[in-house]
Amino acid sequence: MDKNQILKEFSADPDRYYKVKLFEEQGFIRKACTKCGRFFWTLDANRTLCPDDGTDTYSFIGDPPTTKRFDYTQAWKQVEEFFVKNNHTSVSRYPVVCRWRDDLYFTIASVVDFQRVMGSKVVFEFPANPLVVPQTCLRFNDLENVGVTGRHFSSFCMIGQHSIPENGGYWKDECVDLDFRLLTQQFGIKKEEVVFVEDVWSGGGSFGSSLEYFVRGLELGNAVFTEFQGELGQHTTLDQKIIDMGAGLERFAWITNGTPTAYDCCFGPVNQILFEKIGIDSNSEMLKKYFTEIAKEIDHFDDLNQVRRLAVKNAGITDDQLKKIITPLEGMYLIADHLRTLIFAIADGALPSNVGGGYNLRMMLRRINGTINRLNLKLDIDELIDAHIDYLKDTYPELDEKREDVKTILKLESSRYEESKIHMKKKAEKIREKGAPSVDELITLYESDGITPEYLKEIDAITEIPSQFYTKLSDLHQSEKKKAITELPLEELPETEMLFYKDDPMEFEAKVIKVLDDQIVLDKTSFYARGGGQEPDLGTIAGFNVINVDKHANIIVHKLEGGVPKEGETVQCKVDETRRANITKNHTSTHIINTSSRGVLGSWIWQHSAFKDHDHARLDITHHSSLTDEQVKQIEDAANQMIKENYPVNINYYDRGTAEQKYGFRIYQGGVVPVKSVRIVSIEDKDIEACGGTHVKRTGDIELIKITKTKRIQDGVVRIEFVSGPTAFQYVKDQEEESKKQAADDIAKEKLEKQREENKEKSREQIPILLEKILDGQSGELDEITIKNKICFTSSPNYDDYFHQNFGKKLVAKDGTAAFCGIFEAGPTIRVMIFAGEQSGVNAGDIAKEISSILGGSGGGDAKFAQGGGKDTSKKDAAIQKAKSMILG
Ligand SMILES: [Zn+2]
Ligand SMILES: [Zn+2]
Repeated sequence: MDKNQILKEFSADPDRYYKVKLFEEQGFIRKACTKCGRFFWTLDANRTLCPDDGTDTYSFIGDPPTTKRFDYTQAWKQVEEFFVKNNHTSVSRYPVVCRWRDDLYFTIASVVDFQRVMGSKVVFEFPANPLVVPQTCLRFNDLENVGVTGRHFSSFCMIGQHSIPENGGYWKDECVDLDFRLLTQQFGIKKEEVVFVEDVWSGGGSFGSSLEYFVRGLELGNAVFTEFQGELGQHTTLDQKIIDMGAGLERFAWITNGTPTAYDCCFGPVNQILFEKIGIDSNSEMLKKYFTEIAKEIDHFDDLNQVRRLAVKNAGITDDQLKKIITPLEGMYLIADHLRTLIFAIADGALPSNVGGGYNLRMMLRRINGTINRLNLKLDIDELIDAHIDYLKDTYPELDEKREDVKTILKLESSRYEESKIHMKKKAEKIREKGAPSVDELITLYESDGITPEYLKEIDAITEIPSQFYTKLSDLHQSEKKKAITELPLEELPETEMLFYKDDPMEFEAKVIKVLDDQIVLDKTSFYARGGGQEPDLGTIAGFNVINVDKHANIIVHKLEGGVPKEGETVQCKVDETRRANITKNHTSTHIINTSSRGVLGSWIWQHSAFKDHDHARLDITHHSSLTDEQVKQIEDAANQMIKENYPVNINYYDRGTAEQKYGFRIYQGGVVPVKSVRIVSIEDKDIEACGGTHVKRTGDIELIKITKTKRIQDGVVRIEFVSGPTAFQYVKDQEEESKKQAADDIAKEKLEKQREENKEKSREQIPILLEKILDGQSGELDEITIKNKICFTSSPNYDDYFHQNFGKKLVAKDGTAAFCGIFEAGPTIRVMIFAGEQSGVNAGDIAKEISSILGGSGGGDAKFAQGGGKDTSKKDAAIQKAKSMILG
C-alpha cells in the first residue's frame, strides 16, 4: 500500500486522525514544514521547520536539554518507573531469536513479541494490558552505518508501550499524553522542545496513523495507532485496535547525556576498556563537532562515505586526526555494538553459521575480527563479554547465566575464522584475477566455501556487494521451507475425532464418511497421522491394509490397499500395536536425547528437526561441531539415566500465552504452534515441549536408548541417529555378534598371514627349480606365475621382495630373451618390479612408470631393470591387468 497516499488522506483530516486531547489542552499548533511540507505539532509559535530540517537538529550534542544524566541502564529505570506508576505492567523482554514466528529469524520490534500467526492471519496476544517492555531488537539492514553515524546499532532496546483500547487499556489521547509526560515530567525536557510529526504506518494488511515525537531533531519514539485493514478507500476498522509505541532507549540515554555519539552512553564499562586501549578522550570538542556534522548530514545523502567526507571537512578534521582518532574510534564502537548483539543472540540460543539467521551473526563476528586485525588491537574478548554482561545484567539478568556459553561459542568461531583465512585468501586471489563474479557465483562461494562478500570487499577482490545478493540468498533458503501438500476435496467434512489424544484404543469401530479413490475419512480414528516428524500408524480398516495416514487440517485421511469400504459403512479398525509402541518409544526418546544433548553440550542446543519411525529415529540438533565419541557416550548415558529414573511423562493443555509465560519459548522445539491451545509434554522439569505426538507414560517404558551414528550434516547442525526399546536391544545384540565375528575374522586373517609367510619362505627354495623349468621352455601357469616364451608375470601374494629380486635377476642373466614382472604388496604400498633381458623386447622402465602412475606413485629405472609402486590400493586390479598386458602382450 502506498504510504504517501494514506498520509495525504489522513493529514487532510487532522482533527479525525491526529488531534489528540493533549494538543488542545497544551495549545499545540499544527504547522507545515516550510522546507518539506510535512505536518507537525509544536508549542513553539516561531518554529517553521520540521525536526529533520530544523536549525536545532542535534544541538543536544554537548548541550543536553535535561538537567539529569541517565545512561542506558538508568534510562530504562526511569521509563519503567514512569509507566508502572501509570498502571502499566512491566514485562520482561522476549528472546531475540523469534521462535514463535516462522517468518522471522530475529525479533525486530517490540510488537512482534505479541504477534502470533494463525494461518494467514496475525493475531495479538498480550500478557497484560497496558504494558511496557524493554525489548532487545536485532536489525541487520544498516550494518555499514554501525560505529560510523553515532546512532545506528545492530541491536537496540525498543521501549515498547502497548495497549488495546478496552479492558483497562487506552487509545490515542492517553497514549500521547503519557509519552509527553514521560519526556517532560520524568526526563525534565522542556515542553517547547517536544515536536510531534504526522505520519502513518502500514504492514501485514493493516494500517493506521502515527505520531513521531522528536526532541532537537532526534526521533525518540513513534506511537502507531493500528486501526484499519484492507485497501485505502475500501478499508474497515479492525476488531482489535492496537497501540504500538516504540521508542529507542539508546536515544533516551543519548539525549540526556549529549555525548558525541549514542555509543558513548550505552555500553557502560565496555567503552572505558576500549578507550584506554587507544588512549583518546571521547568527550573532546573535536568529536562533538564531527559527530554533530555526521548527524546533520546523514539523512541527506545515500552514500555514507560522502557524509563522512563532508563531516571531516565541516568539522575541520585533519588527515592525522582522521587516521589516529576517528577511524580507530569507529572500529571501537563497531566492536562494542556487534559484541553486544552477539551476546544477546547466542544467549538466546542462536549460533553463527552459514544458514538462515546464523549468517548475520557470523558476519558480525567476522567484522569484529577484521576490525581487530586491521587496527592491530590487542583485545581480550572474554573481558569485553564480561564487561557487557556485568553492565546489562541489571536489566537482563538472564544474560548472566549464559556468560560462559557465549564465550565458548565466540572463541570457537573466532578460531575457525583464523583457520579459514588462508583458504579464503587463495580463493579470493583467483576471483580478483577473474574479475567481478556474478550474484550466483557469489552465492556458491558463500555456500560452498564460506567466503562472505564482505570479506571479498574487505580485501578488495570485489568493489561492491550486489544488492540482490542477500535477497537471493534468503529466497533460496526460504524455498527450502515450503513443501507440497496435495489438496483433497474435504471442505464439507467435519473434523475427525482424534482418539489417539483420548482413550487411544488399538481396536475400534468407526463410520466411513468419505471415500476418495483409495483414501477414506472416518468419523473418528486412533490411527496417528504423519506429523511433527512422526511416521503414521499402519494396520487394517475393514480388513484392508492401511498403508499411509495423513492429516489435512483437522481431517485425517487413511490410504488403503486392496480395496475400500463404502461410504456410510461402519467398519472395524485395528492399529498395528507393536509398530505404534515402537514409534512412541522413539518419539519420547527424541525429547530425552534433545535435553540430554543440551545438558552435555550447552544451552545453544535446539531441535533442528526430527524423524521417528518404528525401527529407527533421528534428531538433528543445533551444534557447532561434530560430536566426539566421548560426548556421544555422555549423551547416551544421560538419556539412559533418565530412563532409569522412570520419570512420568505428563501431557497438559494450556492456553498458548499461558504456556509461553510459564515455560518460556523452549517449548517450541518442534517449531511454531499455530493453535490457541497448546499440548505440553513434560518430563518433570527436565524437558518441556509443545508436541502433538504420541508418548510413553513413563520414561522407564523405553527401557534402553542406543545412539547408532552421529554426523555433522550442515554448518551448525548435527544429526544423532538412534534406536530405542526392542530395536535398541536388537542393536546391542547385533553389535555383540558383529564384534564376535570381527574377532573370528581377525583370527582367520592372522592364520592366513602366517600361511603366506611360510609360503614365501618355501618359494625362495623353489627359485632354482622354477628357473630350470622356465628355461627349459615350459609355458602356461606354474606356481601362480604366468609364462609365455620365457616372459613371466606374477601377482601372487606368495612371493615377496626377496623372491622377485633373486628370481628376476637370475632369469634374465641366464637368458637374454627372458623377462619378469612381479606385483606385490609391501606394507601399505603396492610395488612393481621388472627385469628385462636384452633381446626380450620388453622395456622395464616404461612398465614401471605406467604401473606406478596407475597406483598413484612414481617409478624409475632403465630398460633392463626398473621398479616403482604406489599407495592407491583401490587400483591394484587395474595395475595388475595393465602390467600383464604390457609384458605378455
Ligand atoms: Zn521538513
Ligand atoms: Zn513429542
